[in-house]
Amino acid sequence: MARIKQLSPQEAQKIAAGEVVERPANVVKELVENSLDAGSTRIDIYIEDAGKKLIRVVDNGSGMSSEDAYLCFKHHATSKITHVDQLYNLATFGFRGEALSSIAAVSNITLTTKEIDSPVGIQFNLEQLQARNEQSITCNHGTDIAIADLFYNVPARKKFLKSNDTEWRQIQLLFQAFCLDYKSIHFSLYHNNSLVYNCPPVADLSTRISQLYDHTIAAQLIPIQYEYNGIQLEGVISSHTYGRYDRSALFFLVNKRWVKNHILGKALLKGYANVLPPDKYPLACLHITLDHAQVDINIHPRKEEVQFLHPRIVEQTIQTAVKEGLEKHLSAQLKKTVTLQPAQTSPWRSSSVSMQQFSSQPNMAPLESFNPSNIPVSINEMTSFDKLRMNKEINATRNATIHAEPVEAYIKSLKADDEITSQSSLFILRSTECVSKDEFHIIGQLHKTYILIEEKEGLFIVDQHAAHERILYEQFASRFEQVPTIPLLFPTVITITDRELAMLERHHTLFKDNHLIIEQIGSQQIMVQAVPVHLKEINLEELIRQALGWIEEHEQLEERLLYQKVNEKLHAQMACKAAVKAGDILTQTQMQKLLTDLQTVANRFTCPHGRPTGWNISLYEIEKKFKRKV
Ligand code: ADP
Ligand code: MG
Repeated sequence: MARIKQLSPQEAQKIAAGEVVERPANVVKELVENSLDAGSTRIDIYIEDAGKKLIRVVDNGSGMSSEDAYLCFKHHATSKITHVDQLYNLATFGFRGEALSSIAAVSNITLTTKEIDSPVGIQFNLEQLQARNEQSITCNHGTDIAIADLFYNVPARKKFLKSNDTEWRQIQLLFQAFCLDYKSIHFSLYHNNSLVYNCPPVADLSTRISQLYDHTIAAQLIPIQYEYNGIQLEGVISSHTYGRYDRSALFFLVNKRWVKNHILGKALLKGYANVLPPDKYPLACLHITLDHAQVDINIHPRKEEVQFLHPRIVEQTIQTAVKEGLEKHLSAQLKKTVTLQPAQTSPWRSSSVSMQQFSSQPNMAPLESFNPSNIPVSINEMTSFDKLRMNKEINATRNATIHAEPVEAYIKSLKADDEITSQSSLFILRSTECVSKDEFHIIGQLHKTYILIEEKEGLFIVDQHAAHERILYEQFASRFEQVPTIPLLFPTVITITDRELAMLERHHTLFKDNHLIIEQIGSQQIMVQAVPVHLKEINLEELIRQALGWIEEHEQLEERLLYQKVNEKLHAQMACKAAVKAGDILTQTQMQKLLTDLQTVANRFTCPHGRPTGWNISLYEIEKKFKRKV
């Protein structure tokens, strides 16, 4: 073992700096917190190269005397506490006096600062912890601090910085959190000299969210106000009509500090159980206020995490507040829009839930009732697919007409690559006499949603949308290259952000491989010129945005895995959009075609989202209901 040597103070400080400053967003956080602690009402942030080149924060706060301006870069130099006991009753963000000294150890700094009643301010550079170019300067009161060349002297750490896109994303998230936390402060954020966000003070959280996201969002927000056991929750959450493709819009502010806490996110999502489709996430901003003694803010070097004395109670409070908020909102919506018929009380319908039940029992969780696991138990899942047989000797006519557009496209598209099945799909199955006795037989469509098939041993019910979705998904997943691309007569133009554009460029092949031919036509505009044949009717803007959301969520994965994940989701989404819907009227031919195709695909028992494609009710079950059997 080599001999022990004490590190030089400079080296020790560089190492210690890593605790506080790991990436540009950490620097932004420390500087903005200092501006807030200094009582600023306006904070402007300028970033270059995702913070790798420059992070500059300009505030109109208290400023510093020239003496303090030098002192603030010393280790453990703070104006905020003098004794550790004060930690438990702290009104400021800072308290350790470590941020500026850590930042100064790994960057070059220019500081300009002036106190409000001082005639002049002071400006100097701090290079390798040495002050240079000191001068008195006439300037506005407040502090302007510019951090250049972060980690210039710690190459190992610099190497670990992520792509500009990822680092910039972190800064944006942090900025959003500050804006949500401090509504009365005017924040702005610039990247590479362009203004990205400008958020003047606002009166309420919904308006703040509109400034940060888009103005249409306010109508989909539900206010939350809830108190339990000394824990106060206040904020907004998005309603069931809103869904994002990532978790990046879940903000928790604990006693006015933004915390990244996975557990709180999970509790919130539990409150949304059965309200949002799988893979969709809400937007939420919750201020959690509780006694300072109930939460430890000093467990993380960058104060990003907090520890609750009773975490379970906090989680439960969040879950309940969200669930109740959503329920109240939903039941108010239903009361508003539904004209009620007296509920029918047929005994065999006892498991279905009428709108009347929703609105007359506002406290029940309405959407839970639709959970597939709530379907009555006396049905055996999917015992019949393997028994389904296409009638090979169809006594058919050629006078087929196909009405439902999406199915027509579907049948036409499959015709080209599947001669045998397409032949049969051009015929119409007229009635029972067309079917030989031991083959299955389509009784018809129930509620324009389910295909009913008579079977020797009972009744088989297929969900037309789920079934078609599975067929298309398997087709997309296994032979997507054979799916024809069609140029759009009216190409779709989409406005996207710089960040989205950069992502699109990086992953251009992923879109190309999925037959989405996209071209950039302006600094922030793209044009979708051609799409896979099934997609010509769908909302392409939504699909492209979804795909970008998925890429963002999985971008840390290795490229092959990233593409696999995004392809899976993209194919599921394309299949879902292109498939026939509940409510589409299907002809006998179309139903036959659907069932035939379903028989041949893999994973045919469920749709790509995991819902069953069909159910079997045995004759025995039916006879038991009619008391023919006991
Ligand atoms: P802490 O915030 O924990 O006190 P910092 O290293 O972040 O430690 O800052 C050291 C001190 O510098 C602060 O206590 C404060 O007195 C002063 N300071 C830093 N930034 C500002 C600012 N923007 N305006 C006024 N004073 C500041
Ligand atoms: Mg500080």
